[in-house]
Amino acid sequence: MTPVLSHFIAGEFRPDADGPLLPVINPSDRDDVIALAPEGSAAAAALAAAAASAALSSWRRLPGPARAEHLYRWSSAIEARRAELARALSREVGKPIAEATGEVARCTMILRYYAGEAVRDLGDVIPAQMPGALQFTMRDPLGVVALITPWNFPAAIPLWKAAPALAFGNTVVLKPSELAPHVGVLLAETAAAAGLPPGVFNVVLGGPSAGAALLEEASVRAVSFTGSAGVGARVAAACAARNIRYQTEMGGKNVAIVLPDADLDLAARLTAGGAMRYAGQKCTATSRVIVAHPVEAAFLDRLRAAIEALPIGPVEDAACAVGPLITPAARDRVRAALANAPGERMFGGEPPGDARLARGLFLVPALLRDVDPGASVAQDELFGPVLAAFGVRDVDQAITLANRSRYGLSASLFTRDLGA
Ligand code: NAD
Repeated sequence: MTPVLSHFIAGEFRPDADGPLLPVINPSDRDDVIALAPEGSAAAAALAAAAASAALSSWRRLPGPARAEHLYRWSSAIEARRAELARALSREVGKPIAEATGEVARCTMILRYYAGEAVRDLGDVIPAQMPGALQFTMRDPLGVVALITPWNFPAAIPLWKAAPALAFGNTVVLKPSELAPHVGVLLAETAAAAGLPPGVFNVVLGGPSAGAALLEEASVRAVSFTGSAGVGARVAAACAARNIRYQTEMGGKNVAIVLPDADLDLAARLTAGGAMRYAGQKCTATSRVIVAHPVEAAFLDRLRAAIEALPIGPVEDAACAVGPLITPAARDRVRAALANAPGERMFGGEPPGDARLARGLFLVPALLRDVDPGASVAQDELFGPVLAAFGVRDVDQAITLANRSRYGLSASLFTRDLGA
């Protein structure tokens, strides 16, 4: 029997009252239906926001060290199930098991870090101009905080938003990605096992309509979003219209620059990993590499070898580096972008020949060169295992080209020259 996932509201798992259920499918093996999850509803979002609102007054009054204890216990509850969580995460989003294990380890560290911050809930004393006046600042929780998160780091991103919010006395409604609801439910299970008071951390399942409904809940006083630039702009507009606080962490078109004095082996190995691990489905994945002409040919040879050395699936193999694309639509989008890309495709872009991977959404990593820097493949976030290489004269031209992007998220520079 395929399990049916429930929302986690006021400390209880509650099935969706009326909405349709959608299958959650393993991207490594499309025959493997992991669960059925609610498509989401405004009613569930409203219940979750109400539960978070009801829990607020006692949670915000708890002293910081007491809230810290809850976060420590949550961290231990995750640690106790770490292998199971890593396997579930890997199965749901196709993350290679070594990286999934690392993500779960990071979750325990995030909770411990913010537990420490809850103890250091400091303010400032400000010298006053008026005699006898005492001026100081203190931190005050905002209230109910909504978290809207993407599928690609389905445990770490929810926790690096929830932990600071909870540490400082806010209560939380998490709306995980509709592509990773099972991990969201496992986070709820560990929160419950750790004894977090009911309503302090809620999980409402569903897709865009559930997220949009949550943004309209009057009790939601702040939103933390991570996801694509297009959705982030809509989230920001909705929050601005309600005059509530928000943060939006979005996509990238990240660049690596390789100068003539670089250690080419190191640069090739790190660029290959940065671009292709987890099939390039990271906001910080490298998707452009800019190489100085004198070392261009030598670097591209090494880069090709380094990319080809990265094992593609199965994700449960400890050595796996490149997993599947997340959905058929994502794989189609990457293949269409490659088919339309100007310039030379040096290799990659086709499904791998390995019969063990035939039911998954795998693609062989692709390297392009001589691409028009204004073309879509050089400008738009593809979120797939595709890297475009550009040759340049010198560091100035490299920086001009690096900055020819509407994104700014991460960048790397390979050189031994501190001046560069
Ligand atoms: P996405 O934008 O499609 O979805 C993100 C979340 O928003 C999901 O929970 C989704 O259900 C919800 N959503 C969609 N439409 C909505 C709406 N109208 N109102 C409210 N919520 C809505 O992103 P994704 O495909 O899940 O994730 C991949 C993207 O996330 C990439 O662009 C990647 O670069 C980015 N990302 C950024 C960071 C970062 O820290 N900057 C980290 C990881 C991923």
